[in-house]
Amino acid sequence: MESGGHNGQLRGGIDLGGTKIEAIVVDDDQNVVGQDRQPTPIDGGPADVADQMAEALTGAAKAAGVETSSLQGVGVGSPGDVNEETGTVANARNLPNWMQSFELGKTLSDKLGTKVYVGNDVQVATEAEFHLGAGKPYQSLLGVFWGTGVGGGLILDGKPWLGRGGAGEIGHMVVRRGGARCMCGRRGCMEAYAGRAAMEARARREMEKGAKTELFKIMEHRGRTRLTSSVWAKALEGEDKLATELIDRAVKALGAGIASAINLLDLEAVIIGGGLGVRFGQPMAERIAGEMHPHLFNDSRPPAVRVAGLGDLGGGIGAALLVSAANGE
Ligand SMILES: [Zn+2]
Repeated sequence: MESGGHNGQLRGGIDLGGTKIEAIVVDDDQNVVGQDRQPTPIDGGPADVADQMAEALTGAAKAAGVETSSLQGVGVGSPGDVNEETGTVANARNLPNWMQSFELGKTLSDKLGTKVYVGNDVQVATEAEFHLGAGKPYQSLLGVFWGTGVGGGLILDGKPWLGRGGAGEIGHMVVRRGGARCMCGRRGCMEAYAGRAAMEARARREMEKGAKTELFKIMEHRGRTRLTSSVWAKALEGEDKLATELIDRAVKALGAGIASAINLLDLEAVIIGGGLGVRFGQPMAERIAGEMHPHLFNDSRPPAVRVAGLGDLGGGIGAALLVSAANGE
């Protein structure tokens, strides 16, 4: 096949996270042939985020040796309320000033010169793990994406379960009635204990009350403005007391919330992904399994608990699958 024809089969994928934008280019066999990463803008609005996304994808295409316009299409995994038909996104809470509906698909398509398909970030990452990653051996699973927030995606009987469009919100399982205030405005959600944004807010309050911690020093030393996964990992390595306490609290909340979901659905597997999940890896997945155990009703048959097999790139690979699906592949 001539190279022009081959290039036509390359696809782009963008994972839009609360902290970073991960862009990749994959070939027919889902091999990553180019990648780039940009920080998610903290201020501005959706148009600024879209600019940064286009820059990341352009970088990934350049690394793959192609123009963005020669890609078969680009898939986007986005947080918030996604309309897959129109490519619009609203209520993206972890992104700057993005509550109103924004035409993300069209804006990116104009910038990149190719078709753009927008899906829910967590759902595309769950499907990527199911088709290509740690979820391959199973027909029913829960994907838990532990990062800025805690997202969830469900596969039941080999098919994604979207409910009426809002299924999978594992982060808002109530693990403590009247408990900590969640970013969603409610109380006692799993995410209010385990989400990186909630943990950072808590760490800041504790420090202001006089708790000693290296967390913010590590952050500054690394030139970061937020407590990223690597900052948490470094603090844990140094046996930072506050970081250890907050992560313990997060893992207990994850155990209770995920076990409750398993009691309801009796799934074969739980796949732990997201920035923190991937950073901490299989040992942390096992700790989460341990914290789930006391809460499991069928405790003689616990589900498999595995770290995401596609790592940080799973969201982007899943997003690129949207292009294949749209082209009937
Ligand atoms: Zn909540």
